[in-house]
Amino acid sequence: MTNLINSVCGEIPNSSLGTTYIHEHLYVYPSEQLKYYDYTIDDIDRATAEAISFKNAGGNTLVDLTPINYGRSPMLLKKIAQAANVNILCITGFHKEEFQPKWLPEMSNQEIYDFLVHEILDGIGFDKIKPAAMKLGTSYNAVTESEKRIIDIEGNVQRDTHIPIVTHCDQGTMGVEQLKGLKAAGADLSHVCLSHVDLAEDVDYVERLADMGASVSFDHIGRHLADHDALRVKMLTRLVADGYGDRICLAGDMGRKKYYLAYGGKPGLKYILTDLKNDLLPHIGNEAYEKMVNSNPQKVLIREA
Ligand SMILES: [Zn+2]
Repeated sequence: MTNLINSVCGEIPNSSLGTTYIHEHLYVYPSEQLKYYDYTIDDIDRATAEAISFKNAGGNTLVDLTPINYGRSPMLLKKIAQAANVNILCITGFHKEEFQPKWLPEMSNQEIYDFLVHEILDGIGFDKIKPAAMKLGTSYNAVTESEKRIIDIEGNVQRDTHIPIVTHCDQGTMGVEQLKGLKAAGADLSHVCLSHVDLAEDVDYVERLADMGASVSFDHIGRHLADHDALRVKMLTRLVADGYGDRICLAGDMGRKKYYLAYGGKPGLKYILTDLKNDLLPHIGNEAYEKMVNSNPQKVLIREA
């Protein structure tokens, strides 16, 4: 096992990951279309202020899950990491088909494979910042041909480089299909984390994904402030009671202005470490809570070769 992990500021010891959110967005610029204005986080000072509030609440590491063709900028993430003095990890890989680059269909499987391995081994673009994970995505209740192809290619890339994979499950769906495809391509599902599964609102489904060997993230947290995330607290309580406490990561996927305190929104990055923690502790206890923000995301991210 390697003792180091790639952050945007260079390699850091695995032991310095600490409290980690596995799916966030500190710098994201999906598109110039007006409908994505709220999804655009491009003010470095505000992102830094938000990252500092996370740190002051006990946070250490944020994984920026902004993929290729969605406004990814490892160099700006590095500026935020340095200014806020937090670890930020960036990624390679692609979103669901709607947000995949237009050049993707023109590339062969081998070319896409080589491109991803190049980013992983040599770093991203001009700045040569190395990613710590790789993203893939699927559409709502469907896996398109292009998404199927990326699952297959990224499964091969993970088999050969051991880079962890964090996926986008649209509205929580298609997790089983993602895992079957990745497994068939040789991926190690113990380093795969499926995002947004809380949106499926189905504990049996989440348990099935965990039984297949993957981890999951509850990351649409902080959207239901009026009832203190009651449904998520209930789902997490049952998952822990059923013995799945080692497979769940907590994050906010707060890639919208309306979720950032620094833009005047709610609940902000610190919410999971403050209010949600207070709501969860009476139900699951501190040990189970700490796993979800410490050892569970770390287990996904730390590479074994
Ligand atoms: Zn996201």
